[in-house]
Amino acid sequence: LVRCENIWKTRGQNLVLKGVNLQARKGEVVCLLGPSGAGKSTLLRCINAIELADRGLVHVDGVPIGCALRNGSHVRLSESQLSRQRADIGMVFQNFNLFPHMSVLSNIIDAPMRIRRETRAVATNRAYELLRKVGLLDKAGAYPRHLSGGQQQRIAIARALAMQPKLMLFDEPTSALDPHLTDEVLDVIKELAATGMTMIIVTHEIQFARDVADTAAVMSDGAIIEIGPARDVLSRPTDPRTRTFLARSL
Ligand code: ATP
Ligand code: MG
Repeated sequence: LVRCENIWKTRGQNLVLKGVNLQARKGEVVCLLGPSGAGKSTLLRCINAIELADRGLVHVDGVPIGCALRNGSHVRLSESQLSRQRADIGMVFQNFNLFPHMSVLSNIIDAPMRIRRETRAVATNRAYELLRKVGLLDKAGAYPRHLSGGQQQRIAIARALAMQPKLMLFDEPTSALDPHLTDEVLDVIKELAATGMTMIIVTHEIQFARDVADTAAVMSDGAIIEIGPARDVLSRPTDPRTRTFLARSL
């Protein structure tokens, strides 16, 4: 479903991604791990076309993301074309990023109405269904500032799912949360995995990655240094850098 091919990216003076290849089949859960500064967030942002790779291509469902081939070269898509592509790719950030001036319900139905042109009734029905799934049916009228971090993150997940994405990207979804709020968010993601959603999840929660991931990929210094079945990579890593990273994360 997703294929990153030889992705290169510089930021300022830094070479942040150095020829990254990563794939996720339909229904596969890939956990992306690695030390701070490894380039994990940058890779997710390239998959979602928030940033465009300097070299290399990301395909989702066979379609190149963020650009189109014209006369043999790749040109960047317009904002409206981009937002149509992004509708297929849900993204959940570390800091929830809900719209603070909108109620929970408005947060969820806004993009489906604006971008998917759904009627309010259709969008609202699905929003309530998703609120039930994340266990927050009673918060539809609340504002983000009145919710705990864990609740805000579950709403952010519901908001992403409201677009009926083919793929979900998570960038450290629990690292801004107090430990006691982490599990309620991880449980929602686990349930989502069980429904067959394709996901790429950047996380430092090793036990969660063991539970949920089919594949674990470890990044260091702009490259994937180890990738394979999660139980192998996370239990018997072969690269010494992976061992160091895992030992520090326990
Ligand atoms: P973390 O675990 O801390 O979130 P990460 O693996 O997500 O780290 P990225 O945020 O992708 O890492 O950053 C990768 C590299 O890009 C870092 O070395 C960082 O110094 C560099 N970088 C990030 N933003 C910029 C910027 N605006 N200008 C220049 N370099 C940047
Ligand atoms: Mg990051």
